[in-house]
Amino acid sequence: MNLPPHLGVRDGHLTIGRHDCVSLAERFGVPLYVTDEQRIISRYREYRDALAAYYPYVQVLYAAKANGNLAVLRTLAMTGAGADVFSSGELVLALRAGIPPEKLLFNGNSKSIADLALAVEKGVAVSVDSLDELHQLDRVAGEAGKTARISFRVNPALEVPTHPKIATGLATSKFGIAHERIPDAYREALACGNIAPVGVHCHIGSQILATDPFARACRVMIRIAGELTRMGVALEFIDLGGGLGIPYRHETEVAPTPADYAAAVVPIFRDGVEELGISPQLWVEPGRSLVGDSSILLTRVNSVKKAHRTFVNVDAGFNLLVRPVMYDAYHEVVVANKASSPGKETYTIAGPICETGDLLASDRLLPELAAGDIVAVLDTGAYGFAMSSQYNSRPRCAEVVVSGERVSLMRRAETVEDVAAAMVTPDWQK
Ligand SMILES: *Cc1c(COP(=O)(O)O)cnc(C)c1O
Repeated sequence: MNLPPHLGVRDGHLTIGRHDCVSLAERFGVPLYVTDEQRIISRYREYRDALAAYYPYVQVLYAAKANGNLAVLRTLAMTGAGADVFSSGELVLALRAGIPPEKLLFNGNSKSIADLALAVEKGVAVSVDSLDELHQLDRVAGEAGKTARISFRVNPALEVPTHPKIATGLATSKFGIAHERIPDAYREALACGNIAPVGVHCHIGSQILATDPFARACRVMIRIAGELTRMGVALEFIDLGGGLGIPYRHETEVAPTPADYAAAVVPIFRDGVEELGISPQLWVEPGRSLVGDSSILLTRVNSVKKAHRTFVNVDAGFNLLVRPVMYDAYHEVVVANKASSPGKETYTIAGPICETGDLLASDRLLPELAAGDIVAVLDTGAYGFAMSSQYNSRPRCAEVVVSGERVSLMRRAETVEDVAAAMVTPDWQK
């Protein structure tokens, strides 16, 4: 199977960042997420350099929801990334990781007063999703004696080729303000006492494997930037969002590289802003394409059962990786302790969760499997652990990070006591 450069096979074992996955499983226990820090750093640099080749003022804002572990945020903070945060929790963790407030954008269609107040207090720009939210933010900033820096989230009404649950820029989507209403929204913002409109933002969807949708979105945004500039809005940034996909099917899928993305989008951006006589920063918000292939999920085979299919029951299910169930997502699987062995039988990898749909992978040709084998699920760095749950009262697993020679936990495994920790006994049951 085609493997990305940070994965390999040595002595029949899968490796990540040159670390033996079977040894990692023995040392830290399974299930286990393993992340290669160096892979994240090289993907970030690939992005930054590709964009900067066409335009000097660029900022990559990592979409923190893809993998919110503090160690991952710190890695990206140290390389110079900003962050797109979608909740107060993500905002707090991004700041704690050392990302400066001016490199953050607080996104989201449904922010509370407390969310808005936190953004104002920390000096984080807000991407406003409705006029209702605009006026709430104006009030909150006024009460704090501050000015809130904002963009509006534009709904560009673009069809994009991806799973419908993650197409976010459709005319019918819950996100943003329709592009034709955007000038009115900025007019209203300019009339607010405590609001400074300084940017404009869009995000058209996720796991997009073509560059053309991004180029189209960029043209819409440049057109809007023109209208806003003529209205007297001084744009400091234009944020084109994230959404570049990764090749989950290693043999058949091809994803545009950050260089392909930059070549398709940034010249349109550069020529557009030049024509308008402005030089705003270009912001992009990649999540999946920065961290998606940096992690694998290691899970142990509990039992093998020949039924109408041959099921391989493993110890990780949709409690730890929901993408197969939620998006019908495909993830490559490798038997980590038999990585050089030829495919022998067709297996379906089933998780331990009490739902028929809890399958991680269906009908895969794999080496002969037995209890105790370690199965690696690839490309689980984005929306993997981040979307995990404690369903079935299963403690979440540990996460390990490798970086060159180094190995460390970046999250300990939970125990059943962690599952019970926030539960409260009603007085009358004591
Ligand atoms: C989820 C999200 C992103 C990142 O999307 P990816 O597909 O992971 O690149 C960027 N911006 C916003 C506003 C998002 O909601």
